[in-house]
Amino acid sequence: MVQRETALVLFSGGQDSTTCLAWALDRFARVETVGFDYGQRHRAEMDARPRVLAAMQSFSQWRARLGDDHVLPIDTLKAVGGSALTENVKIEMGANGLPTSFVPARNIFFLTAAAALAYRRGIRDLVGGMCETDYSGYPDCRDETIKSAAKTLSLAMDTHFDIHTPLMKLDKARTWALAEQLGGKALVDLTIKETVTCYNGDRTHRHDWGYGCGECPACDLRAKGYAKYAAA
Ligand code: ZN
Repeated sequence: MVQRETALVLFSGGQDSTTCLAWALDRFARVETVGFDYGQRHRAEMDARPRVLAAMQSFSQWRARLGDDHVLPIDTLKAVGGSALTENVKIEMGANGLPTSFVPARNIFFLTAAAALAYRRGIRDLVGGMCETDYSGYPDCRDETIKSAAKTLSLAMDTHFDIHTPLMKLDKARTWALAEQLGGKALVDLTIKETVTCYNGDRTHRHDWGYGCGECPACDLRAKGYAKYAAA
């Protein structure tokens, strides 16, 4: 049976998808989560997922809404290779104008796998943390790409999928502010303590914005966004 009161959140264990999870818990009666094991260079994000999900249980308004968590393997991205996220490549600007952390078509793989899982589970609402305002300019994060993917997946399974992207137009400071709006300071603290954004998966250096190497582009973005949010 298809039910529009259940959503499936693409949940990586990072700041953005944790905020999306809270956004979905605020709006849907039931929320399931899916993560992707695509041969990430480190396990820090995958390790953060169960920690964040457990911590989410402390919000009494959301506890009963949290449903099953799923992990799907996507080995193809690692096999294709060439990205700083899947192998030991320096993170820098590439000749194509994109950072070397770009994983070609990653979000299309994720959305396709998530939609297939959602189809099987009678879910038609997907939620993802894609965002087109940040520096990286990954083409598979653009609103146009996501809208097109929703149309393609709906056609491919002869059903109607909605892909919600609550962070699409927000910068990192506003993502922090959205977390506070949804779950108060407790959600901001959870995000600082448990989520992993760092490309190097660093969990040893603690900053006011959370753990990370403090030097990679993802840490830089998270730190700057937090500083702007904290100053507001
Ligand atoms: Zn870092």
